[in-house]
Amino acid sequence: MKKRWIAHVDMDAFFANVEIERDSSLKGKPVVVGGNPNSRGVVCSASYEARKYGIRSGMPLFKAKELCPSAIFLKPRFSLYREYSEKIHKILKKYAPVVEKASIDEYYLDLTGCEKLYGDICTFTLSLKKIISRKTGLPCSIGLGSNKFIAKTASKRAKPDGFLYIPHGEEISFLSPLPIGEMIGIGKNMERRLQEMGIKTIGDIIKFPLSFLINSFGRFGEYLWEKARGIDFEEVKNCSYRKSLSHEMTFTKDSEDKNFLRKILAHLVENLCFRLREENLRTGTITLKIRYSDFKTVTISRTIEPTNCDTKIYKVAKELLEKAYTRRIRVRLLGLKFSKLLEENFSSSLFQDKEKKENALFKGIDLIRKKFGNIIHLGSFLS
Ligand SMILES: [Mg+2]
Repeated sequence: MKKRWIAHVDMDAFFANVEIERDSSLKGKPVVVGGNPNSRGVVCSASYEARKYGIRSGMPLFKAKELCPSAIFLKPRFSLYREYSEKIHKILKKYAPVVEKASIDEYYLDLTGCEKLYGDICTFTLSLKKIISRKTGLPCSIGLGSNKFIAKTASKRAKPDGFLYIPHGEEISFLSPLPIGEMIGIGKNMERRLQEMGIKTIGDIIKFPLSFLINSFGRFGEYLWEKARGIDFEEVKNCSYRKSLSHEMTFTKDSEDKNFLRKILAHLVENLCFRLREENLRTGTITLKIRYSDFKTVTISRTIEPTNCDTKIYKVAKELLEKAYTRRIRVRLLGLKFSKLLEENFSSSLFQDKEKKENALFKGIDLIRKKFGNIIHLGSFLS
């Protein structure tokens, strides 16, 4: 098999560091993103200074306040974080042929075959870290190795603001001494179960035969067996972490008025297409859901050429409604789901000029909507 070069880029304390980047007076202070410490919310992100007090993501805010009364508590600004996330994504796409956005603040890069372009991949990846920091003002940690599992484990070990390269062939010796709780994919309960079996480090898994692990853990046993040996064949996919987008509406009064149902459908299409474009995505599958007044539910899907164009999607959705609404009883809920989502610039050459024009039109509408609220409706485009 060809030698693969996979990098995992993980932003450090992402939300907190974006806030610090925007307001330099926060630098060096314990910053907690989550909201009012007297509310019932939880910590979304904590700066490394805040972590020194034991503050962690997911912890109740009041507890964070107890640990560090002088911490600065900020309300999360998700659209701002998304902007930064997109900016980082764009930078990475410039340098790597395949970039997978695994979450709002982590990315996998497949740099296999880039040796000719960049020379030593290790040196190049390290320089990429500097580029990200220079262009965004944000620190990140990068792991580099032969596959996704190794790269992610390495980036975790490199935190904060670090870089760790695991040379090909050294996967097992890197993983073996690590505490079992550090293995990606292992939660607190699984950690306890493994500890009870005497498995304290990742290397301890290797002592158990595959059949035993499968008997004990089912398919997860296979995962343990493979990953402990640093084996991971999963590919880096040129796509977004978002698997689907959906929106549904339950009516205040059940209805069998087809015009009303179509209006609701147009509203759902508008809403979802707006969100698609916000995240630079196209949908490849449209699923319609109808729930009748007796609670029987029907779903129907169609796969289409990926698009985020309101009119195209509305046309398909209308046909799906026509097909699915077969009973002569009232409807209580209508839902729409987009799945098989694709990054917009991915294979953009496939899309014709006409769609590009339409796209520009809808992007313009999105801008107006952002500024003035949803005052333009799809209805005005439909004849
Ligand atoms: Mg992170």
